Amino acid sequence: MNGETAGSAVPVCSLCSEPSAVFQKLKDRYLCGTHFTADIEQRVMDTIKTREMIAAGDRVAVALSGGKDSTALLLLLSRLLPQWPDVRLVAITIDEGISGYREETIHSAEELTRRLGIEHHCISFSELFGDSLDTILKGRETKACSICGIMRKKALAVGAGRIGATKLATGHNLDDEAQSVLMNVFRGDLPRLIRNSGMDSSGRFIPRIKPLSLISEKEIALYLMLNNAWNVLPECPYTRFALRREVRSLLSGFEYRHPGTMLHLITSKQKIERSCKGSEVSDPLKTCRGCGDPSSGEFCQVCQLRQSRNR
Ligand SMILES: [Zn+2]
Ligand SMILES: [Zn+2]
Repeated sequence: MNGETAGSAVPVCSLCSEPSAVFQKLKDRYLCGTHFTADIEQRVMDTIKTREMIAAGDRVAVALSGGKDSTALLLLLSRLLPQWPDVRLVAITIDEGISGYREETIHSAEELTRRLGIEHHCISFSELFGDSLDTILKGRETKACSICGIMRKKALAVGAGRIGATKLATGHNLDDEAQSVLMNVFRGDLPRLIRNSGMDSSGRFIPRIKPLSLISEKEIALYLMLNNAWNVLPECPYTRFALRREVRSLLSGFEYRHPGTMLHLITSKQKIERSCKGSEVSDPLKTCRGCGDPSSGEFCQVCQLRQSRNR
């Protein structure tokens, strides 16, 4: 069934006779828009089920930046969650205070939640940390992504706690996850490599879930286009400083020449995770001496940042 129809340049879907929208290299098949959408939704559902991400009675907070990944995540969960009994969806947007960038994405987040009829909360760095990211970063822009990442994580945890969420869902996709694996390997940071999943919280913070972790960036883009949710937004001005950017271009080249590379990285990580369980690399969490939050060291990363600013 694969291949082109006579007289037409567009190959047809391997599951029906509609023109195809995509070719899935790993499965060696063409899919039309409808079958591609169904495939994505099924795979996200499978990830949620096999990793036991959501249970009946959960109040799931989605970290909604307004960008592509979180938009797709909210859209997908709003379609999939009605199948679960008594699960509620809420969206949280963090306003880091990045001028010329955040305003537009917040607007897009507000529009989306209004359209889907989902409760939406905003929380800002200024309110939480006393300053906007732009001010906090002055003079250390090269560390922007790691500093912002640490603070966003904290802001999301506070926000999710405030609204009584039992799970915090983020839009990390396959590319993000594979990049993180590689970056942690490059840095020789084994504890961080296996701590990344955030599921093993032992009840000390709201468990984080990543339902899109097996869906690639390209697939997310196509899903949004096919479901009329595609939105062109500015890119964060700080990404030009990131190591991630280099790893990203390296990995996308590999994925193109050797399809399945990113999935294999995730599988490797999961195998390492399993064999490290209970060993000394997976140190139990301590309590931060500054704020009392769970922490891998004496002080959590946010308190370490505060101390370095006051110096
Ligand atoms: Zn089809
Ligand atoms: Zn702390």
